[in-house]
Amino acid sequence: MLKLVDLVKAYRTEEVETTALNSVNIHVRDGEFVAIMGPSGCGKSSLLNIVGMLDTPSSGQYWFNGEEVSKYGERKLADIRKKNIGFIFQSFNLIDELTVFENVELALLYHDIPARERKERVKAALEKVNIGHRESHLPQQLSGGQQQRVAIARAVVAKPKMLLADEPTGNLDSANGDEVMRMLTDLNAEGTTIVMVTHSMPHAQYATRIINLFDGQVVAENLRAA
Ligand code: ADP
Ligand code: ADP
Repeated sequence: MLKLVDLVKAYRTEEVETTALNSVNIHVRDGEFVAIMGPSGCGKSSLLNIVGMLDTPSSGQYWFNGEEVSKYGERKLADIRKKNIGFIFQSFNLIDELTVFENVELALLYHDIPARERKERVKAALEKVNIGHRESHLPQQLSGGQQQRVAIARAVVAKPKMLLADEPTGNLDSANGDEVMRMLTDLNAEGTTIVMVTHSMPHAQYATRIINLFDGQVVAENLRAA
């Protein structure tokens, strides 16, 4: 699925240069569920932004699905991203003015799908995360756990190869957090590759592998009994 080879990300602000990722090598195979852990400032967001093709590395290679995407410019990256990658975030990032249904439908508009099929797929995605009965509500009318379920539906409705999750349970209580983790586990079992940043050790245990970052470097990788 993806491979990072000697990946470096440096930010330059006035006189200061910060090396956020310092020669990172990571290989994620098709169907894996990887958790990325490490203290604040260790480079987790920088890593997820590059893997999600929202940012580009300073040096090194990023291979995705057989292509060296680190050679590509913004437009090509955006195209690959929209076709292959779904995102969920700590703060849900739903659009307040759109209904639950419309928020999820938005993720399909880029794809060339007839309106009728689009509606069926949105309904199926909402049913899958048990939120179909709230499709005409606005995000603010839902609890945090319900909003994150809508965000999961939005992230997967286009059937991405890979799902990137940035602290998906960070704003949820333990019951809702556990439910989100069970849904991610189900999606992974159906074949979606998942890379998740988390501060929660219990939630990292749902992954099949934990990668620990420290000061921009991979310091440990733990294979878990799947
Ligand atoms: P984490 O997500 O683990 O907290 P980040 O990837 O956000 O880590 O940050 C890694 C390092 O890079 C930190 O020292 C941070 O201050 C720095 N950094 C992150 N983004 C930027 C940026 N846009 N400009 C300058 N420095 C940045
Ligand atoms: P997977 O683990 O998903 O079965 P591979 O192990 O075959 O895939 O490769 C992982 C990724 O590395 C793929 O995206 C592959 O295209 C990419 N890759 C291919 N050639 C090279 C290369 N010369 N150097 C680094 N990465 C490569």
